[in-house]
Amino acid sequence: MLYTPAEIADLLSFGKRQFYRVYIPRGCPHQREENGHLWINGATFRRWYLEQYPKITLSENEAYCLACKKIVPMTNPEIKQKGSYIYRASTCPNCGHGLSKAHTNKRGEDDQSTKQVTG
Ligand SMILES: [Zn+2]
Repeated sequence: MLYTPAEIADLLSFGKRQFYRVYIPRGCPHQREENGHLWINGATFRRWYLEQYPKITLSENEAYCLACKKIVPMTNPEIKQKGSYIYRASTCPNCGHGLSKAHTNKRGEDDQSTKQVTG
């Protein structure tokens, strides 16, 4: 499904201006009509958005692999502690690069991850 920047902005609760100022310059995939109107494919945008903003879109069992530059599942994570910092450690199933992620039970922290655009 194709959306206008205003619709995408509304769905994800950010201003349309941010779309033009931030996302387009960062390489957000879009189609431009002859009359200058932009169209965004919902599924393509979501995939791109997840790559650009992994921190707020990771689910409980996912981590961002810096080597693969993408989100990967955390398999059999180990809970570790460094001082007061508790984190989970695992390795990337694709490349074996070490993954770590803060371990927290706080609810509501990842509010934005529930917002999704479907295509
Ligand atoms: Zn990897």
